[in-house]
Amino acid sequence: MAEKEKLLSQIPAVHRLREELSRKHPGLPEVFYLRAARRTTEILRQEILEGHLRGLSPEEVFSRAEEILSEEARPHLRPVINATGVVVHTNLGRSPLAEEALEEILSVARRYSNLEYRLSEGRRGSRYEHVRDLLRELTGAEEALVVNNNAAAVLITLNTLARGKEVVVSRGELVEIGGSFRMPEVMAWAGCRLREVGTTNRTHLRDYEEAISEETALLMKVHRSNFAIVGFTKEVSGAELVRLARRHGLFVVEDLGSGCLVDFARYGLRREPTVQEVVASGVDVVTFSGDKLLGGPQAGIIVGRAELVERIRANPLNRALRIDKLTLAGLEATLRLYLDEKIAVERIPTLKMILMTPEEVKRRARRLTRLLQKALPERARFSVVPTVGRTGGGALPLADLPSFAVAVEVEGLSPEELHERLRTGEPPVVGRIEEDRFLLEVRTIFEEEFPLVAKALKRVVEGAGA
Ligand SMILES: *Cc1c(COP(=O)(O)O)cnc(C)c1O
Repeated sequence: MAEKEKLLSQIPAVHRLREELSRKHPGLPEVFYLRAARRTTEILRQEILEGHLRGLSPEEVFSRAEEILSEEARPHLRPVINATGVVVHTNLGRSPLAEEALEEILSVARRYSNLEYRLSEGRRGSRYEHVRDLLRELTGAEEALVVNNNAAAVLITLNTLARGKEVVVSRGELVEIGGSFRMPEVMAWAGCRLREVGTTNRTHLRDYEEAISEETALLMKVHRSNFAIVGFTKEVSGAELVRLARRHGLFVVEDLGSGCLVDFARYGLRREPTVQEVVASGVDVVTFSGDKLLGGPQAGIIVGRAELVERIRANPLNRALRIDKLTLAGLEATLRLYLDEKIAVERIPTLKMILMTPEEVKRRARRLTRLLQKALPERARFSVVPTVGRTGGGALPLADLPSFAVAVEVEGLSPEELHERLRTGEPPVVGRIEEDRFLLEVRTIFEEEFPLVAKALKRVVEGAGA
């Protein structure tokens, strides 16, 4: 008891600790020093009372305080190491951007720009002009518009072209994307009525045809982003729908979800229809995301017939859904890379990770293993194991990406405990547990993050021994 009293009396005063932190690490808001000093003394107090602390050196106390200060001062939204193997991971921010996109964002963010100003004429311009020609060239569409995200693109397209009328959709395509984006509800918010046709597994052209009436505004196709219907199935292609729509003077809208500009089949992956193909098939308006397979910033891209896209642009909702200048800068730079596919697959991280060959993934897994073994020769075991990766983000939903991961076992820690400690460390590492093993999937870990993973693991292992 007397020993605890003595230790408690050695805890420095909050104001002294605060002053010392502020002197050693100047430039932060005052509240951070105060909070860090308070938390440090509280933690020390508790550890002493619980009998966890036997001695208290001023140096140790101060380094604990510095650690707590760095936690206080660090942003809430911050980088994470994605060791899940899911390339387009919505919870982890979807697509990391290409260097070219980052540079454009920085230069536009730092200073003023010609966002809505035509320099040649010295008068007001439109923010959409910066990506319009690029999108027309890349997709073959007559006209293009960009909004905040694809959910917004679908909403404004339906609201503009079908408000107060019916939209015919197959029952096999009434998808829920997650984050409460459900096709029937989006239709309701857009002010149109859903006319479901066909059955879950089979929808025929005559089902659409029989549903067409005075009330019909358009026929719609929705990409089954996160599921597949297999077995006894039938769906109507966009081209068939276009022919039917033309006979009745109607439009066809397709929500492509991910919307890729590169034909993945050329690289040995599952075929996904490209935006160019869908546009060429005659579909009047196509919408897709900027941050899924495209590998750019969050955005909703609308391409299609000039007269229809122009009507969508003029919808007052567009002002509420409009795209931000930083996004535009990143999107323009990303789209420019697509002008040469060789450059796109080389420079856009999302494409690069998806197209990484199993051999390359295995080489990286071995490299990471060697690094980890060197950093942690004791109490941890590493092995390279084959796994199956996923593209994620509602893209190539069933496409397996043969992959490799580093399985990590740490003495005295369950896979769950290991994962929790890695997730809550700095930088956080999010991995995955499979068959009671903790896995670091290397496809989605950047090469320059390897040393950080080693450091994070080292801290966890050493902490586990304390
Ligand atoms: C992902 C997705 C959306 C939503 O796109 P966001 O860019 O996330 O808003 C809409 N429709 C489909 C089919 C999708 O896959």
